[in-house]
Formats: sequence, C-alpha cells, structure tokens
Amino acid sequence: MQHNDLLIRFWGVRGSFPVPGPETVRYGGNTSCIEIRNKKHILILDAGTGIIPLGEKVLRENILVNGDKLPITVLLSHTHHDHIQGLPFFKPAYSDSYAMYVFGPSLLGRDIETSLIHSMEPEYCPVKLKDLSAEKIIRNFQPDEKLVIRNSIYHPQLFKQETDVDDIGHSDMVITSLKSSAHPTDGVYVYKIKANEKTIVYSTDIEGIPGGDVEIIEFAKDADVLIHDAQYLAEEYSCPQYSKAGYGHSTLEMACEVAAKAGVKQLILYHHDPSHNDQIMDNIEQQAKRLFPNVSAGKEGMEIWL
Ligand SMILES: [Zn+2]
Ligand SMILES: [Zn+2]
Repeated sequence: MQHNDLLIRFWGVRGSFPVPGPETVRYGGNTSCIEIRNKKHILILDAGTGIIPLGEKVLRENILVNGDKLPITVLLSHTHHDHIQGLPFFKPAYSDSYAMYVFGPSLLGRDIETSLIHSMEPEYCPVKLKDLSAEKIIRNFQPDEKLVIRNSIYHPQLFKQETDVDDIGHSDMVITSLKSSAHPTDGVYVYKIKANEKTIVYSTDIEGIPGGDVEIIEFAKDADVLIHDAQYLAEEYSCPQYSKAGYGHSTLEMACEVAAKAGVKQLILYHHDPSHNDQIMDNIEQQAKRLFPNVSAGKEGMEIWL
C-alpha cells in the first residue's frame, strides 16, 4: 500500500438479513459493512455481519502505532439490525489494543449510544455494550458537523461544519453527512468521505423518487465513487400484490438515475435483496450497465483503489 492510497473494501453488501449458502457465494451473504483504509486508519461504514470477518483480519494484521492504541472509527448510517448486528462479534472491540470510535445519527429522539445499549440488552444479546472492553467513544454525528480523521495524529475529531480546520493534510479524511428522510421511520444518514482529492458517497437504505432525489444528487455531485442502495428490481418495487414501495429502498433504475444526474465517475449497487442469488445479481449488473456504463454490483471482497 502506497502512502497516498485510499482503499475501499466490501465486507457485506446484503440488505435486511444475511443469506449464506451456495446461491450467494459470489456476491456474498453478509449484511452491510465497508472498510475504508487510508494508511493505517480504519474507517468502517456500518456494522452488519460483514464486520465480523473484518474484525478477524484487523487482529491478524496486528498493526501497532508506536505503542499507542490503534483507532478504529465505525460510522453508522442508522441502527436497523442489518447495520449493527455484527457489532457484538467484532473482536477488536474486546481488545485493549484498540480505541473504538462509533459515530452515528440520533434518530427517533435517541442518542446513538442509547440505541446501541438498547440493542444489546439481555433479552437480545448475551453481552452488553459496556462489555466491549476496548476504549470506546460513542457520539452522535450531527448534520452540522464534520468528522476529521487524520493520517498523522490518528484519533478522529468532530468540528462544526463552518469551522476552518486549516491544517488538513492531503491524505486526511474529512467526512460530512446528510440526513435523508427517505427511509422509515426517522430517516438515515448519507455520508461523504473526502481524502486524497477523491470523494466517496455512501448512500444506503434510501428510497428513490421519480426524477431522482435532488438532495442526494446535490450531495453526491461529481463524486468519484457513489455506493447506492439498489435493493429491488423494478417489477418487485411496483408489483401490485407485494409492492415494496415505501419500504425505504431503491431500484437499480433509481440508483442509476442519481448517479447519472450527479455526474459521478463510478456507481456501486449496494444493499442487495436477500432473495437475489448470484445469477439474479449478474442480471441486475447487466441491466444497470445499459443505464450507467461504469457500474458494478457490490461483492464481498471487492476492492476499489483510489
Ligand atoms: Zn438496511
Ligand atoms: Zn434500514
């Protein structure tokens, strides 16, 4: 890995619930999780079951930072099960070699930390959030804030958007968010990660609208990589008997429309429906290529270098 390399690695691309088995070996069955690496810092987008093998890899790598704790930042889009269910099984969270930062939205009037504590109460989970023994900092990420993850000082810092942080280096990450209401019940956060003069937009669990969601189009303008929800086929979305409209997810057409109107360089379809096996996923990718040429369906193990 070169000094300036920015790596996106997909660990879970599935929506709703995990689907392991022979029908999903190529695209993978784990739920939402993406790793973004800039030098040594580890940024993780969502903590679906894909975070479990990622945790194993982090431990195997055994990166040491001059005896300091290695910071890992987990950024949550929202707290539906498929975005947090891997967290209690993320092994670095039990090691005092790591400092774990968790940032996410306050939804339904609850702080992100309160939501995570609730999700791990004894009725649902054998370990409590406080049993995760790594040093933990859990904070709401407000829409008027930006998160700076430095390549040199390592530990992430939150600033007000308007704050002029003038010593940001070329390879430091700067992350901003957009709260979208296009997902039940209190919306979802879309994130924009800038580093190395490149821009990645993570837009999962978003339901498109005819003509494209102008908020998302504006937010994703000219991004190098847009990772966008594309859970449904058009016929599933508009099926009269079992319509998926209102479930908070997009069709591949909606994702392609946003990508085209935002002028992004590359689109990755994401949050695949659990009923879509490898063959259906191949067809979805082919269909999408007719609408937006530089598109791929996200796959576990897929890497993008920027
Ligand atoms: Zn989801
Ligand atoms: Zn959701």
